[in-house]
Amino acid sequence: MSNPFNLEGKVALVTGGNTGLGQGMAVALAEAGADIVVAGRSSAADTGKAVEALGRRFFEVKADFSDPSCVDGVVAETVEKAGSIDILVNNAGIIRRNDAIDFTEDDWDSVMDVNIKSAFFLCQAAAKRMIPAGGGKIINIASMLSFQGGIRVASYTSSKSAIAGLTKLLANEWAAKGINVNAIAPGYFATNNTAALQADEDRNKQILERIPAGRWGDPKDLGGAAVFLASSAADYVQGTVLAVDGGWLAR
Ligand code: NAD
Repeated sequence: MSNPFNLEGKVALVTGGNTGLGQGMAVALAEAGADIVVAGRSSAADTGKAVEALGRRFFEVKADFSDPSCVDGVVAETVEKAGSIDILVNNAGIIRRNDAIDFTEDDWDSVMDVNIKSAFFLCQAAAKRMIPAGGGKIINIASMLSFQGGIRVASYTSSKSAIAGLTKLLANEWAAKGINVNAIAPGYFATNNTAALQADEDRNKQILERIPAGRWGDPKDLGGAAVFLASSAADYVQGTVLAVDGGWLAR
């Protein structure tokens, strides 16, 4: 029987794949056989080395998703360099922390532009290629704050709740067109994004006490979920938000 998790011959575009969770997922997709394109602001040379060491092709596309108008160009360049776009992982994201009472318009807009506006228009630009090609896989990166309120992160919670809703809407519209749209909701992972929480002794202790697995996630822990949702093993999985959280939501 052929391996339903095999991604050989597929091209995956991973936004923000130079570091953290994006890098973990890019390398996992390459391990499963995919060629990788990373789009982002910073050099993804480390990811490139890891992907090429696995015998897969690697390409970089420069992009700043604080300006959502760049997305059509990013998808066009992906196809130009790699030949197709079969998998999109909408991973690039930022967070701003402030009391809601003091939250500024810039704290709001900067997070929404990257985390939801660019993510939506990337889905649209990718789908315009995937539909005529017979289908594809879209994986949006959600959060525990797609389910919970959080604190001092008004725009982040709003953007991640929106990405969960958008994932379901796009699944409804595109499932019959051969595109699987799903999301992964990571729990608490040790990356730049959570550096402030890890450094705060009290918050770090509270977080660890609540995670049944008893540890922060490692970017490698997301690999299995990403490969599954990117593969034909997930052909009948639509609109789901898959928590990879060491049990956080179960508590
Ligand atoms: P990170 O800060 O290490 O990585 C974020 C990535 O997004 C980087 O590659 C960064 O360059 C890129 N990025 C940010 N703004 C960009 C812009 N304007 N243009 C292009 N690229 C941009 O953080 P991470 O933890 O790896 O986060 C990855 C995703 O996972 C984010 O969407 C984040 O919200 C989400 N997430 C993280 C956690 C966690 O615990 N770390 C939990 C839930 C969700």
